[in-house]
Amino acid sequence: LLMAYEPAKRLSRMRVTIESKMVGVRIMFELLDQPETISEAENATTLPPGPGKMEMRNLGFAYAKDKRVLRDVNLTFEPGKTTALVGPSGAGKSTVLNLAMRLYDPTEGNVLIDGQDIRDVTFDSLRARMSFVGQGTFLFSTSVMENIRVSRPDATDEEVYEAARAAHAHEFIAKLDEGYETQVGENGTFLSGGQRQRLSIARAFLRRAEILLLDEATSALDADSEALIKDALREVTKDVTTIVIAHRLSTVLEADRIYVMEDGRVVEFGTARELLDHGGVFKRLFDQQFGGSGGMQGVQ
Ligand code: ADP
Ligand code: MG
Repeated sequence: LLMAYEPAKRLSRMRVTIESKMVGVRIMFELLDQPETISEAENATTLPPGPGKMEMRNLGFAYAKDKRVLRDVNLTFEPGKTTALVGPSGAGKSTVLNLAMRLYDPTEGNVLIDGQDIRDVTFDSLRARMSFVGQGTFLFSTSVMENIRVSRPDATDEEVYEAARAAHAHEFIAKLDEGYETQVGENGTFLSGGQRQRLSIARAFLRRAEILLLDEATSALDADSEALIKDALREVTKDVTTIVIAHRLSTVLEADRIYVMEDGRVVEFGTARELLDHGGVFKRLFDQQFGGSGGMQGVQ
């Protein structure tokens, strides 16, 4: 199979086929940009299944020497809860997810899942617990059906349809010439950015991992489509540890907790209501986006 869309730096190292058993675990992560320096511990153990509580303790991080990107970051992500990371561009939000997936190791501090430091466990067992949806969608030159199924190769057709419905992808797929059997083409060119993003969300839903990481996962959708997916997310993520990064604050107003980041630090956290009452950074971002109180509906 050929990669059809958005060639990644590490493509040359990726020798997976959709038939391969580990592809479901690896597909979402192999394509990300993990430096060669990160490797499994020699005596790495298997991270056993669990509720999927994730904690970040006193994290410090720099991609390059002398340029600290995270400083003393403490975050808790609870099972069954949605936690949002917001803040200006460059604040370090995506970096937090990079550390959660162990694409990088922190310079200081630890990332724990169900109390276990993720540096001590195998990549496969760590990533089997997670789904990631980013802004880009990697599409394979195969059918829509197989493009969704990559995240869980043993899924039945019915399960694929169900995930696609939840991601509001079913409607547009059904309208394609050959429905789910439609080939997405060399560059996924038959599909719009929003459609590709829906496929990516369907993949994540199909995986049913305990931890769901969404980094601007609905950025290519219009506000109405985004609202529909937000409703679906609430259903699908009932027992899931969900972390959502979104520039559009309307996406995160209902989160159980919002962490506001600025310049590599957590500067505020709370519910949207608490943060608005507090009148700090979140309030300022909110006013910028909604122009005063126009967006207050939806704030609990
Ligand atoms: P956010 O997601 O909040 O916009 P990021 O976590 O992407 O912020 O970036 C935080 C800082 O780290 C920025 O200054 C950015 O330029 C830098 N950065 C992000 N990714 C890399 C990388 N792969 N290598 C070097 N610097 C990076
Ligand atoms: Mg980002």
